[in-house]
Amino acid sequence: MKRTFSGIKPTGHLTLGNYLGAVRQWAEVDQHRSDALFSVVDLHALTVEHDPARVRRLSRQAATLLLAAGLDPERCTVFVQSHVDEHARLSYLLECTATDGEMRRMIQYKEKGARARAAGESVRLSLLTYPVLMAADILAYATDEVPVGDDQAQHVELTRDLAVRFNQRYGHVFTVPKATHPRVAARVMDLQDPTSKMGKSAEGGAGVVYLLDDADTIRRKIMRAVTDSGQDVVHDRETRPGVANLLEILSACENGNPEALAGVYESYGALKKDTAEAVVELLRPLRERHAELAADPAYVDEVLRAGAARARGLARPLVDRAYRAIGLLPAG
Ligand code: ATP
Ligand code: MG
Repeated sequence: MKRTFSGIKPTGHLTLGNYLGAVRQWAEVDQHRSDALFSVVDLHALTVEHDPARVRRLSRQAATLLLAAGLDPERCTVFVQSHVDEHARLSYLLECTATDGEMRRMIQYKEKGARARAAGESVRLSLLTYPVLMAADILAYATDEVPVGDDQAQHVELTRDLAVRFNQRYGHVFTVPKATHPRVAARVMDLQDPTSKMGKSAEGGAGVVYLLDDADTIRRKIMRAVTDSGQDVVHDRETRPGVANLLEILSACENGNPEALAGVYESYGALKKDTAEAVVELLRPLRERHAELAADPAYVDEVLRAGAARARGLARPLVDRAYRAIGLLPAG
């Protein structure tokens, strides 16, 4: 059976982008047709300025939301990255496989690094090496497929390069994974700035729909979405990014297609209204299920404990093999 791995960082409240670009596929597709592991990748949340109590709170919330979104612990493995030492262990070996030039070329490093510098903050070394830890997350499980939004394509590409390089140099240890993306809404854009990706760590959040926003907040954010100066509804990401974004969100909600939907609407107002209602309905069950699960933290803890135990059992022998292959003396 195919192996799937993917993760989400506890850097903020989960967004509609996270759901449409990743989590929804995990719940609706991946857990049913593969041996799937999904992780709250908390070590990655430490690569930028962070508040320890907030990261802890968001980690639990992210795990609860993954279950609320339909991840079924009977069908897949849900765990917290830092509960499994193998990620950090393997990351170091991959640091000895990657080059600093490769790291500096990563778009996310350039963008987040620039943002930190502009805010007068220093850039943590871990922000530079982050893609190596992500490669370790994936390679530790002999992963075949990595279901992610478009923005992670470059990191998965790097993961493939590192796997191939390690295998060629030290013998075959790693499976070479590939990224998969949803058909539509693989990159949901910010409603206030439709040329930037909707992100959970965005400042302000007026252009970000959070999974736990109430219905009226969702309606307000979508009705106030920045559209373009044109009048007619067409799907063109280049010249009409705001409208294209709404068409993609609505298509994702209705399993439709953005070009076809564009023909249905004669005004931006009607498109916004239908998109708002579709998103409210899409997220309603998730929000209700989250409220139930949040009242039972012991259940969530137990899922995470069992998930980490299984993940450890899978990763340990593979990472041990990598340690031997690269020339380290076994502990005996
Ligand atoms: P941050 O701003 O801290 O990077 P994020 O919202 O980008 O947060 P991640 O934890 O980095 O969230 O990503 C989790 C998953 O969600 C990844 O698969 C990523 O590709 C996907 N994703 C994130 N934002 C979007 C988006 N706007 N549209 C589609 N997919 C997205
Ligand atoms: Mg991100």
